Amino acid sequence: MAAGAVVEGLKARMKVNIVDIRRGLQGASQDVVAEGSMKLGDLALEAPARVSVRVSNAMTRLLVRGTLRGTVTVPCSRCLEPARIFVEAEIDEEFLPASSPEVTEEGESPWSDLNVFGDEDNEIDLTEILRQNAIAAIPIQPLCREDCGGLCPNCGENRNQVTCQCVEMAIDPRLESLLAYQQRLKE
Ligand SMILES: [Zn+2]
Ligand SMILES: [Zn+2]
Repeated sequence: MAAGAVVEGLKARMKVNIVDIRRGLQGASQDVVAEGSMKLGDLALEAPARVSVRVSNAMTRLLVRGTLRGTVTVPCSRCLEPARIFVEAEIDEEFLPASSPEVTEEGESPWSDLNVFGDEDNEIDLTEILRQNAIAAIPIQPLCREDCGGLCPNCGENRNQVTCQCVEMAIDPRLESLLAYQQRLKE
């Protein structure tokens, strides 16, 4: 992949050749840009998605910095229907050679296999770190829309689609703690 190359619609794996970067002087770098819809492992980033990172030589380490954005589809936290969520992440990762003292050190090493490359490796695979950065950017409670009515806790109907008869049973929030207390007494 030439420096600055734009890849249309990446499939499954995003690998970067590191031979020239490692051979180069400190600061040698390569830009990787991918646009369109793409797959990061099992995660689909829908168009208009864009990954733009610079892989650069920092002594023994390789720095991977840039941005990622796109739309992912995940279950809505209220109604469980598909929710399209725009995600945006700053990428700031480091890769270390497997032989470096930090990696081989006994005991707890913060370096997972993900961010380590073998001395003989000609490329690093960014797919998994990009996927994890994208997943980390998904809100904890994704919503299909701001005012999603969710599932009725009583009958389970999707309140975005039907108006069930349970509405009248809505509980005054001031009574909720009292009811919870009553429930605990029963248990
Ligand atoms: Zn929803
Ligand atoms: Zn209901």
